[in-house]
Amino acid sequence: MPRAILTYHSIDDSGSIVSTTTETLRLHLASLVAQGVEVVAPGEVAEARSPSAVALTFDDGFANFYTDAFPALSLNGLTATVLIVAGRCGQSGDWARQPPALKTRELLTWSKIQELQAAGIEFGAHSMTHPSLPDLPIDKAASEILDSKRAIEDRTGAAVECFAYPYGEYTQPIADVVAENFRIGLSTEMGFVTRGSSFEALERIDAYYLRSAFWIDRLFAPLGGRYIACRAAARGLKKRFEKITARASAQ
Ligand SMILES: [Zn+2]
Repeated sequence: MPRAILTYHSIDDSGSIVSTTTETLRLHLASLVAQGVEVVAPGEVAEARSPSAVALTFDDGFANFYTDAFPALSLNGLTATVLIVAGRCGQSGDWARQPPALKTRELLTWSKIQELQAAGIEFGAHSMTHPSLPDLPIDKAASEILDSKRAIEDRTGAAVECFAYPYGEYTQPIADVVAENFRIGLSTEMGFVTRGSSFEALERIDAYYLRSAFWIDRLFAPLGGRYIACRAAARGLKKRFEKITARASAQ
């Protein structure tokens, strides 16, 4: 019973590491429909009753969600969750570690967010300004989290159930704030959602690893499971290596 939460960011042709082309997104949606995978909200993935279930999440709230992703979703009768940087709506995605191609890309305005919400799109929080939360004192980190939830609830009138950690970075006190105030937290830890998953930081699978139609078509088959496990292991090794080299160069 595989369960997955897919992560997209910007839908564009820039080729950046966090960009997915409209064509690839369309292929993904058609493939999920053809496979009979149930598409649900991220908070419901773990409890979905279908043999395989997926949630579609779009981080950062780029304006191209409205122009490119939403029409493709509507065409397939599917919904998604957009995690927005609530202090930057209507501005650009110009924050640290953003690929240069995306720094000037517009983010959704509140009026577009309200329009999308009325059309069935769910909105979740992704902080006010997209900082690395562990770099902040815990009270500042908590404000980034809670203010973003409040801002979205004030503007949309809907309860915000999900929080996505900027850059996937958090500490236990940060995760505790999320656990107390949201139904689920979304990490960037690569993997399927399983019985052992922690609701304060659910695993996701980045669309970057599914650029080939071959893998989206087999994501819920045993071969796809092995592929994701291999990529996750390789990513874990790379991260450990980066930590070791950072420590060595600091000495
Ligand atoms: Zn982000």
